[in-house]
Amino acid sequence: MHPDLVAISNLWQADVRVDSLRAEHERLVATVNAAIQTHKDAVVARDAAKAVLDATKAEERVNSRELDSYVQKRDATKRMIDDGSSPNYAATERQLANCIALVDELETKGLDLLDRLDAATAGLAAAEKALATAEADERAARQALGARDASLRVDLTAALRAREVVWGELPFDYQTPYSELRRRKRVALVNVEEGNCTVCHMRVAPQKLNEVQMKRAVHTCVGCGGYLLPG
Ligand SMILES: [Zn+2]
Repeated sequence: MHPDLVAISNLWQADVRVDSLRAEHERLVATVNAAIQTHKDAVVARDAAKAVLDATKAEERVNSRELDSYVQKRDATKRMIDDGSSPNYAATERQLANCIALVDELETKGLDLLDRLDAATAGLAAAEKALATAEADERAARQALGARDASLRVDLTAALRAREVVWGELPFDYQTPYSELRRRKRVALVNVEEGNCTVCHMRVAPQKLNEVQMKRAVHTCVGCGGYLLPG
């Protein structure tokens, strides 16, 4: 390789190393943040499931009490008819029919409430299970970050220092174009395969590639601006 291309290549490798360490750190932090959010959402879902269960229980208690009172009323009314103690037979008959209808209605509602209690209980169990999983995932994510954090900082410091050294070895004329490639998040070194740049697929003039291979010159791809490797 042309000595200038060697310098560019060294700098690019140092930058790839820095980028990969930063990306690793970002991934670990993003995993922790996502786990924290999932945990928060799971707490909200658990609280909501608990509220549904509590409300259904309360509704069931009210219904039960009401049912008990109408059963008593129905039985008392029936006794009045059976033992002939009713002062107004027709009115008592109407009252009995009324009580029987209400007891029937409350019993039907009671059965529906039992179904809803089952569903709410299952809902709470599922929400608690999801919460336990979310808590475990958050712990694991925090541990993964904690286990790598210190060494990652050491690695990054070393990688930045190494980058500084190779930056100092880059001939001045390449500094601005190289920095521009980095700013635009472009690949600084590109391969040529079958006459085309492997990054942007633009055709590379054979003369250019030839000069790169003969170490006579440093050339960039006209499409993406990456420095051509001899292949
Ligand atoms: Zn290209």
